[in-house]
Amino acid sequence: MTILLVAELREGHLHPASAKVLTAARQLGSDVHVLLATDPGEAVCTEVAMLQGVTRVRCLAAPHYRDHGVENLALPIAQTAALYTHVVFAATPFGKALAPRLAAMLDVAPVSDVIQILAPDLFVRPTYAGNVLSTVQCREPVKVLTIRPSAFAPAARSTSAAPVDVAPAGPDMGVSQRIARQYQGGARPALADAQVIVAGGQGLGSKDNFARLIYPLADMLGAAIGATRAAVDAGFAPYDWQVGQTGQIVAPELYIAIGISGAAQHVAGIRGARVVVAFNKDAEAPLLQVADYALVGDLNDTVPQWLAALQAQHPV
Ligand SMILES: Cc1cc2nc3c(=O)[nH]c(=O)nc-3n(C[C@H](O)[C@H](O)[C@H](O)COP(=O)(O)OP(=O)(O)OC[C@H]3O[C@@H](n4cnc5c(N)ncnc54)[C@H](O)[C@@H]3O)c2cc1C
Repeated sequence: MTILLVAELREGHLHPASAKVLTAARQLGSDVHVLLATDPGEAVCTEVAMLQGVTRVRCLAAPHYRDHGVENLALPIAQTAALYTHVVFAATPFGKALAPRLAAMLDVAPVSDVIQILAPDLFVRPTYAGNVLSTVQCREPVKVLTIRPSAFAPAARSTSAAPVDVAPAGPDMGVSQRIARQYQGGARPALADAQVIVAGGQGLGSKDNFARLIYPLADMLGAAIGATRAAVDAGFAPYDWQVGQTGQIVAPELYIAIGISGAAQHVAGIRGARVVVAFNKDAEAPLLQVADYALVGDLNDTVPQWLAALQAQHPV
């Protein structure tokens, strides 16, 4: 049983989500190859070879992989997929775009959002916004899986390096090209791997109030900023910050939810959070049923009071 993990890169390094999916891949079998598509000269292949559990690194190196677009990748993966029992991806936008392309080329049904591996063909995945956990058996000859990184710990570094092969690059399909890339989070940590997240909802009332109350608290705590769909729809925050069923799935140590009611579609994205703190004026809001701590009151009073108390304890 040989597993192929299709790794994702960020700024020339392995994306933290791929290091977590490696842990899942090792539960499927002990022979784990990692495929990386890189711009020639990137040192990431050697970095990945030093991770525990990697038995081989396959590097596809060509200038058209610089943008990490998925259109150029499905074909070279499909051409070698018969060598593998499983092809696994992180359930990130990259993995979610690539896995269905590959599954269509191989004519197999993919299994998405795996959070637990019970056997090499038996997986647990959330459905109905996380309210139901389904156990599914996959009988496809090559199992194409996307795996939720938040459900697995990152693989540790090894003391020895796995061999690195240069695999033949696929053609440039010329379908898409990145023109520009603008990171919206500034110096803040990325939502997907943040330890602390301050998230705002429609209860903040306006974009200005979102900025006035959420930004200083996030800066004070070194946190990433999240938002509900209602908040991003209202223009309080960019769409990339949406947390939930149709946004990002997060698993921070601390999730601070301000003016968020706790709709099932939002809660589906924060089930992996260790501690949830809710600021809400409504003691009956559904989020308070899943929160570990709640501050019931008008957020225009409670948030500044909390921030002031934090600043008094930790003066800059
Ligand atoms: C198919 C589908 C997918 C969806 N996907 C997502 C998703 O991925 N993520 C997501 O977030 N939503 C998603 N939604 C939307 C979701 O159903 C809710 O509409 C949304 O999460 C509500 O956002 P909210 O909590 O900001 O707003 P509201 O539900 O309006 O809640 C606002 C809260 O703020 C509180 N509040 C108001 N004023 C104050 C004040 N002054 N002080 C303190 N508290 C105050 C209120 O008591 C209330 O609890 C999806 C919906 C559908 C149908």
